Amino acid sequence: MRTKFVAGNWKMYKTPSEAESLAKDLKERFSKPGRADIVVCPPFTALDRVSRVLSGTQLRLGAQDMHWEDQGAFTGKVSHDMLKDIGVQYVIIGHSEQRTYFHETNETVCKKTRKALETGLVPIVCVGETLEQREANKTEAIVQSHIEGAFQGLAKDLALGAIVAYEPVWAIGTGKTATPAQAQEVHAFIRDLVKKLYDADFSQQLRILYGGSVKPGNAAELFGLPDVDGGLIGGASLKGEDFAGIVAAAN
Ligand code: PEP
Repeated sequence: MRTKFVAGNWKMYKTPSEAESLAKDLKERFSKPGRADIVVCPPFTALDRVSRVLSGTQLRLGAQDMHWEDQGAFTGKVSHDMLKDIGVQYVIIGHSEQRTYFHETNETVCKKTRKALETGLVPIVCVGETLEQREANKTEAIVQSHIEGAFQGLAKDLALGAIVAYEPVWAIGTGKTATPAQAQEVHAFIRDLVKKLYDADFSQQLRILYGGSVKPGNAAELFGLPDVDGGLIGGASLKGEDFAGIVAAAN
């Protein structure tokens, strides 16, 4: 039985002070233990402040990206050590906004995923097609290339530490959620694909999240699907009440 997982991606929202307030609000809301794993991913500048607030709670901390090198002359980037030193345990890799605006490729996703896994961080690897690709019947081909790219050359023991998030690009931040049938179809496709890449044990253990306009009102139906193990939440993770409603659906 896979434990449900809900992660909030705060994107480029919240100053450190605002992030601290939201973290305090979440700390109150999640004071009682639940069944799902809960992670919040604030911007880099707020990670340390949020980490201090969430220390000792059931909420875990994630970053929104990292570089694959240990250190060096890489202006603007952060490394795994920098993240772990302030309590980060998870890292979003290959988000569609990184792929679309910042030249993230399957190769860089693979390097980041490998480094995260090798250094004890849990990568949340994002995959998903654009509307144009869906309309051209390329959804499975794109998702397959994202999955094969991310896991290229990774041994099962290492790869088992990863989480995958299926995020149809046309559903991110648009208010257009995938229908339960659309989500289940792609999640089942991913599970079958990783079975072929690894084995049945891997495919049964891998947690596959859905992301794309998840709200308190649609979370329960999506999270109840056989191959959906929770969600990666953008806009609705910026308000404590909405995020709590979504986590309640996972619990
Ligand atoms: C995301 O950014 O990963 C996301 C799913 O955003 P939203 O929930 O706002 O669609």
